[in-house]
Amino acid sequence: MATALSRLTLLQPRTLDGALRMLRDEGPLVPLAGCTDLYVGLHFGTVPQQRFLDLSGLRALGGICLRGDTLVIGALATYTDLIRSALVRRRLPILAEASRWVGSPQIQNRGTIGGNVANASPAGDTLPVLAVAEATVVLRSADGQRRVAFGDFYTGYRQTAMRPDELIVAIEVPRVAGRQWFRKVGTRAAQAISKVVMAAVRAPHPRVALGSVAPTVVRAPRTEAVLAGGGTIAEAQAVLADEIRPIDDLRSTAAYRRRVSANLLAQFWGDTGDQGT
Ligand SMILES: Cc1cc2nc3c(=O)[nH]c(=O)nc-3n(C[C@H](O)[C@H](O)[C@H](O)COP(=O)(O)OP(=O)(O)OC[C@H]3O[C@@H](n4cnc5c(N)ncnc54)[C@H](O)[C@@H]3O)c2cc1C
Repeated sequence: MATALSRLTLLQPRTLDGALRMLRDEGPLVPLAGCTDLYVGLHFGTVPQQRFLDLSGLRALGGICLRGDTLVIGALATYTDLIRSALVRRRLPILAEASRWVGSPQIQNRGTIGGNVANASPAGDTLPVLAVAEATVVLRSADGQRRVAFGDFYTGYRQTAMRPDELIVAIEVPRVAGRQWFRKVGTRAAQAISKVVMAAVRAPHPRVALGSVAPTVVRAPRTEAVLAGGGTIAEAQAVLADEIRPIDDLRSTAAYRRRVSANLLAQFWGDTGDQGT
């Protein structure tokens, strides 16, 4: 029986070098990791490409380790890997927390951090965490490797700085000083795309990032400056309202997202202050 999938070609490299050569010489190819995003697109006919590169067998893209003082997370690390990793729980507990809120156990078992970052949805739950952690995206092609600061990785709605011949091989996270905070607001606890998602760090210069309130995940530098300068939470909320660009869509309204973003900022501040310990 012919199926919708039978027209598709899947290349299955055994090594990362082999994968990168295929990407350069046999492209265009669409990398495929856990396939949780891609399968939805294939099912609904919104992925026109027919040639795919299966990354799932590439051991070089797996693993979570410390290199010096840097937490290095392989692109193929799944949400379940992140939840179970003692290193992640110790160094970046909000990444384990964000992973617990993704989809369902089935999605957590297959979905990868590399896929979440590359998919470039403004609602991706790990993205505000990586933004406040000031992570680095490690990209590799057959011609070499480069590192892109997470803050420079997204260039527009679902646009990234990654070239078609590059793969995300890892995410590097420096040590984060200060209390970490994460909250996702969706329709329900499981299987819900974020209406608003916020990650923050309470440090002398606080860091705040939000998803689902602009075309890309955003840091809120002017809000952070108000908080760092000793401004009131009401002043910070007013600045935040001007810093985000939420829209009405099928999941929520811009007005609701603005209200919730302001509430989350106050909750972060309350939870992480002296009274919040
Ligand atoms: C039912 C359901 C619930 C979901 N719930 C959530 C949720 O709550 N929160 C959330 O954030 N997401 C959610 N998602 C989306 C999805 O699970 C995540 O974005 C996941 O992390 C994607 O990873 P993947 O490995 O499956 O990516 P894939 O589907 O394999 O790929 C996604 C995109 O990334 C590219 N890609 C993958 N890996 C690499 C790489 N190493 N280098 C370069 N490009 C790469 C692919 O080419 C593709 O464009 C959900 C999806 C489903 C189906």
